[in-house]
Order: sequence, then C-alpha cells, then structure tokens
Amino acid sequence: MGIGNLQNCPRCGKLFVKGIKDVCPACDREIEEEYQRCAEYIREHRLVNLYELSEATKVSVKQITKFIKEGRISIAEMPNMTYPCESCGEPIREGKLCPSCRSRLEKGIKQAIEKQTMKEEQSKGIGFRRDFLDKGQNGR
Ligand SMILES: [Zn+2]
Ligand SMILES: [Zn+2]
Repeated sequence: MGIGNLQNCPRCGKLFVKGIKDVCPACDREIEEEYQRCAEYIREHRLVNLYELSEATKVSVKQITKFIKEGRISIAEMPNMTYPCESCGEPIREGKLCPSCRSRLEKGIKQAIEKQTMKEEQSKGIGFRRDFLDKGQNGR
C-alpha cells in the first residue's frame, strides 16, 4: 500500500489512490452513467450532433469528445456528429486534428527535417571544400 500512489482526481479534485483509472471511483461511476445516457440517447437519435447530445444528456461536450476519441462512442453511423479539432476547433470526425492543421503540422515536421538535412549537407560540403583547399595549399 504505497501512499505515493495518491493523486488528485482531474475531474473533481479529490485525493484518491491511483489505480487503472485516472479518475477517482466516484467520478468513474459518474462517467459510466454519463456514457450510458449518451449511448441510450444516440440509439434513438442517430442524427444528433455533439452540442444537441450534450444538451439532451447534460454530459459535457468535453466528456462526449473523450468518449468518441476513446472509441466508446462510434460516430460512423452518426452523420451529424463531429468534435472540435484540438488545435483550431474546426469540427472533425476522425483523429485529433482537422486536415488543415494536420497538413500544417506535417509540413512543419518536414521543414524541420529538411532544415536539419540541409545543415548536415552544408557542413559536409564545407568540410569537403576545406579539404580540397588544404590539399591545394599543401600542393603549392
Ligand atoms: Zn473525482
Ligand atoms: Zn484544426
């Protein structure tokens, strides 16, 4: 029994012993109930969107988004269901980012890699030139 496993529940702020779940048992139960409410509502209302679902079930948009990202709520058969992109808030239906944020991020990574390789190639190039010059000078 380690006291070191105590932590504040990110949902209600109460101290609890950290187990498999990252929230306290009371919150875990509540989340479970919220999930049931959402699942039940969705069964009857396939065309609901995120905000209508939140309004109808009194479950926070954030928690519903979490259910979707965890794969507990499948939005494949819910044409109006979207959740906000983590970067710009655009409505999306898969992943964490909208296509434009994703391509911006990928471009950023690519540019960083290109810069890195360019630097490496440059330093190699300079090294080569120096060798060449040295040899030239030695030859004289
Ligand atoms: Zn809690
Ligand atoms: Zn975005």
